[in-house]
Amino acid sequence: MQDTICAISTALGVSAISIVRVSGNDAIKIVNKVFFGKNLENVKSHTIHYGYIVYNNEKIDEVLVSVMKAPRTFTKENIVEINCHGGIATTKKVLEILLCNGCRLAEAGEFTKRAFLNGRIDLTEADAIMDLINSKTEAARKMAMKGLEGNAKKLISSLRKDLINIISNIEVNIDYPEYNDIYEVTVQDLKSKLSIFRNSLVKIISEYENTRIISEGIKTVIVGRPNVGKSSLLNRFLDTDKAIVTDIPGTTRDIVEGSISFNGILLDFIDTAGIRETNDLVEKIGVEKSFEKIDEADLVLVILNNNEELTEVDLDILDKTKDKTSIVVINKDDLNSRIDISKLQNRDVIYANTLLSSGLDDLKNRITKLFNLDQIKKQDYNYITNAREIAKIKECLKILDDIDMSLLNDIPLDMLEIDLRNIWNILGEIIGEKYSDELLDELFSKFCVGK
Ligand code: GDP
Repeated sequence: MQDTICAISTALGVSAISIVRVSGNDAIKIVNKVFFGKNLENVKSHTIHYGYIVYNNEKIDEVLVSVMKAPRTFTKENIVEINCHGGIATTKKVLEILLCNGCRLAEAGEFTKRAFLNGRIDLTEADAIMDLINSKTEAARKMAMKGLEGNAKKLISSLRKDLINIISNIEVNIDYPEYNDIYEVTVQDLKSKLSIFRNSLVKIISEYENTRIISEGIKTVIVGRPNVGKSSLLNRFLDTDKAIVTDIPGTTRDIVEGSISFNGILLDFIDTAGIRETNDLVEKIGVEKSFEKIDEADLVLVILNNNEELTEVDLDILDKTKDKTSIVVINKDDLNSRIDISKLQNRDVIYANTLLSSGLDDLKNRITKLFNLDQIKKQDYNYITNAREIAKIKECLKILDDIDMSLLNDIPLDMLEIDLRNIWNILGEIIGEKYSDELLDELFSKFCVGK
């Protein structure tokens, strides 16, 4: 980590300003070589300076340069941020000049990786930074901020503390069996302690499942035969013309996706091709995709045409969605009803007219109720919500299952200790007390360059 890295930290495009970030021992020295203004090597830390980036006697851009000296910086290294004028050519040129003067181009997530390796953040905070960057709704942002404030780290650290108490009790019993005055761990003791520990892990998983939609959104699939009004409904929701509305059945062949922020939660719409029995290959692929999407969906909106009798295909769709969280929308409410309502018993039904946007509020209220959105909004976001962290917790639960089996089979305590230490290590991987290079590479490669 001796080299000095640089990258464009803002999105590349036409904008008022762009920021080129430099981090490393030589950050100030290198920028100073190409900066026309104050001598940056003599300025105080955390100060901003006006000047020009100059290369081969040519003024490249008029800039503001922030100088932050180690260790009170994000990476705990010297950091310089060059605020240049936005625009692809200018920003790239400034980057190029830095590369010619001794910087290396940063890898994806390398600034955050350095922040971790230098002890500025733990891995749950790195996860939270990633979640924060990716959050598309207010609720997701709030949740990521809780992670960044160290909530996940505190929780995992306290679980590790509980576990190390259990392990040390076992160790003392194994190492000093001759002492009478030490607390003797019985199998019963161990079982009850591990059961409390397991409950804490199970609680984390169930809270994650309950609030998964905050971070991941509600995957909503709209299904129905061609021409029932799927695209119109989607358009009413999105309030754009993204999906094509037409009178010719079967034109919405491709799956059009769009998202809205609804009650602070992301509603991801997947408009499927019209479902009907057909020999046309493209249409057929679309139909199959519709059914595939039903399986993956959190919510299915089944659209029926109020003006037509239920067909075999409608009944098939109703059957395929009967066990899913779904709402049946009887569209074209303005036209005469020809639907046999008795066939929709036990289904959540609403009427709509997508031409006039009527029924939309009704639909939104049902979605709010179905997913407890009012409740979720009121809750504290003190959960572990990052998928990587949850996967690790699940790994721990699996090992706990093995331990339970071992206890049933009277396996000696010292054998169990190995499994418990394994759990302790996995929990350590969540916060980064234990990590492998592969884990870091995998984690930080998901970041953008410049973060
Ligand atoms: P899709 O094939 O299911 O996506 O259906 P579209 O959204 O393309 O709509 C098919 C046709 O039905 C279009 O001509 C729409 O204008 C019309 N349509 C959609 N919703 C309504 C409605 O509520 N009432 C009436 N009368 N026509 C509608």
